[in-house]
Amino acid sequence: MSTSGPHHKVLVLGAGIAGVTSAHYLKENGITDVIVLEASQRIGGRIHTVEFGKKASGEKAIVELGANWIHGRAHNPVYKWALEKGLLEPFVLLDRMEGHYYTEEGKRLNKELGNKLWEKFLTFEEETGIYFDQNIQTSSTIADFFRERLDAYIAQFPPEDGVELRLMANTMLNYLGFHIGDNLNLMSLQYDGSYEDIPGGDVKIPRGFSEVVKTFTNNFDVDTVKLGTTVTHIDWDQSKQGSGPVKVCCSLIGGEQIIYTCDHLIVTCSLGVLKKAVEDNSLFKPQLPVDKQMSINKMGFGKVNKIFLYYDKPFWKSSVKLAWSGEYSNVDEKSEWYKRIFSFDVVMDNPTVLVAWISSSAALHMEQLPEAEVSKSCTTILRQFLNNPDVPEPTSILRSSWCCNPLTLGSYSYFNMDSTPSDITTLSEPLYNMDGKPIVLFAGEATHPRWNSTTHGALDSGKREADRLTKYYKSSEK
Ligand SMILES: Cc1cc2nc3c(=O)[nH]c(=O)nc-3n(C[C@H](O)[C@H](O)[C@H](O)COP(=O)(O)OP(=O)(O)OC[C@H]3O[C@@H](n4cnc5c(N)ncnc54)[C@H](O)[C@@H]3O)c2cc1C
Repeated sequence: MSTSGPHHKVLVLGAGIAGVTSAHYLKENGITDVIVLEASQRIGGRIHTVEFGKKASGEKAIVELGANWIHGRAHNPVYKWALEKGLLEPFVLLDRMEGHYYTEEGKRLNKELGNKLWEKFLTFEEETGIYFDQNIQTSSTIADFFRERLDAYIAQFPPEDGVELRLMANTMLNYLGFHIGDNLNLMSLQYDGSYEDIPGGDVKIPRGFSEVVKTFTNNFDVDTVKLGTTVTHIDWDQSKQGSGPVKVCCSLIGGEQIIYTCDHLIVTCSLGVLKKAVEDNSLFKPQLPVDKQMSINKMGFGKVNKIFLYYDKPFWKSSVKLAWSGEYSNVDEKSEWYKRIFSFDVVMDNPTVLVAWISSSAALHMEQLPEAEVSKSCTTILRQFLNNPDVPEPTSILRSSWCCNPLTLGSYSYFNMDSTPSDITTLSEPLYNMDGKPIVLFAGEATHPRWNSTTHGALDSGKREADRLTKYYKSSEK
């Protein structure tokens, strides 16, 4: 049965960080009739802090299934917000050099050599930017670029060091695949530099990243965010002069349908969800304009996951970095999915938990395996690399499943070989009615021209669309 819901000035699809910040800034700017529609039973989207493990004190500990670090400080709006709200105490910066590299034969590699390679790897990462910054044309992938740079650098070392360096380079390539979000062979070198790195390191939010999202909703009325409300159809037909408001059809848990109307809808669902809507010709009625559909199809949407392993007591002293043998590009991401795990890292304030990071198709495949199989594979790897048959099975395991989750369908956006920065511009353009009023607006990490893929990009995009509507009302005094 479907019922008519009330009319609102602004509806927001999604209560991830982009959705809640757009609602927050609209309210702050005096546009108060705003409702956020969220399909799941929680706010945060790809920010998801959960209880798992225990602190040294015996209290419950937390882990991050999604975003973990604030990338950069200088002018990072998430950093600024978290600092203002007192969420950064105690202050913790990520140390990417922590831990040791181990081989499949259970040998610990030369840490000093690893640190040297890591420093060089970071300069290569910076260098990828010149193709975009200086408009140097290239058809290479990020994998091609790193293969060439690493080969040239490693060739300068004596052969025995070269063997170790090559193995540690595999760890770093797997890390980079996670960081950008997919297999490096799929990624465009040309546009990597359009992403702006913010200096200042990676900062942890000790009480959990979800606190950032919560603080944006602190001043909301209790019914501002409607959880368990899945938007199924957006009827934005404006083909006639004076067409009515946008109709937003929602299904509630229990099967009830409700149709809201609004003057403006801000869509913040992930690029993965938009890709599916285009593919199935669903969600938008009429379907989105062709140029927007094309940009949605072209942009890359990555695949990453985390596996948390809980033990009765720790058997490690520091993180275990996996220096897999073979070529990065030769991994069969289905049968050898585990070879995309680049590290079992220690987790802050959670002394009996390790986290494994995995990316690309292997991350999707891992989600579809039985939990016992994933747990067994992790144990086999740890026993092998640490050369210790006594490494126990974890007592419990927790995995993220961002690729199969129908509300995300992947991890975060990146430039694949088909996409260009103009696709982000096209994606972020609102749909206007015949009177030039923006009626459907787009926010979310994939719509940010410099900071796509991140929480700060998502936050800034939510503010951008709130500012767009504020300006619209100021300029037209409506
Ligand atoms: C494993 C992982 C690690 C990451 N690590 C970092 C990190 O360390 N630092 C960093 O800055 N970023 C990181 N990111 C990226 C960051 O989490 C995202 O860029 C950001 O959270 C995206 O926010 P958003 O609001 O754009 O989208 P989302 O968080 O995806 O919000 C969209 C919301 O829309 C809802 N929704 C979808 N469809 C519907 C519908 N039909 N009806 C109603 N609601 C719907 C969803 O449930 C969701 O709540 C990571 C992401 C992942 C997956």
